[in-house]
Amino acid sequence: MPRKKVSAKVPLQTDLESVLVTSAAIKRRIKTLGAQISKTYGREEITIVPIINGSIFFTADLLRQVRNPIRLDCVRIFSYRNSTKSHGKPKLLHSLTLDIKDRHVLIIDDILDTGKTLSAVVKMLKKQKPATLRTCVLLDKKGRREVDFEADFVGFEIPDKFVVGYGLDYAERYRGLPCIGVLKPEKQKLA
Ligand code: 5GP
Ligand code: MG
Repeated sequence: MPRKKVSAKVPLQTDLESVLVTSAAIKRRIKTLGAQISKTYGREEITIVPIINGSIFFTADLLRQVRNPIRLDCVRIFSYRNSTKSHGKPKLLHSLTLDIKDRHVLIIDDILDTGKTLSAVVKMLKKQKPATLRTCVLLDKKGRREVDFEADFVGFEIPDKFVVGYGLDYAERYRGLPCIGVLKPEKQKLA
């Protein structure tokens, strides 16, 4: 993927070493992903389950490109991570309030990395016997997988770099950036 120049006009964007995905590219890709999802589900209602907080920007933009009727309910996961690496087993901090039995469920996450988070969420939700259970991620770092897991819908494959922006944070910063990029090494020193 070609790396774009970092714009100094957006606050915090100058903390990036490079931009991996521009906001224009995100917008274009979400349009095609939305169409792909609508086609897959036909006229069925979809119960959308975003994993918060990281996926809220992606979910909000994606859902505006999906034509199906939807229901929406979030889950929150705690992953025992320091700022850039995950350790151990993900824990469910906030579970569903909607009943998903016999429903078509689509789980949405910002990024698929080791695969531990999504595979754990899939395992938990399967117990509630949905009619179908699929997953959608904006970003996929294929090279980092520790468990055997692939998402049904993927926005972009990216290299093994810690990224921020468009919902993704570093110590809660940078979520509001309109693009996705790699932080300068000297900016990865926050507590
Ligand atoms: P996994 O369980 O697949 O290793 O990790 C998934 C979660 O780790 C994502 O939902 C995200 O919160 C976090 N994560 C993984 N890689 C990155 C990254 O490059 N940047 C940020 N900000 N979070 C990441
Ligand atoms: Mg996350």
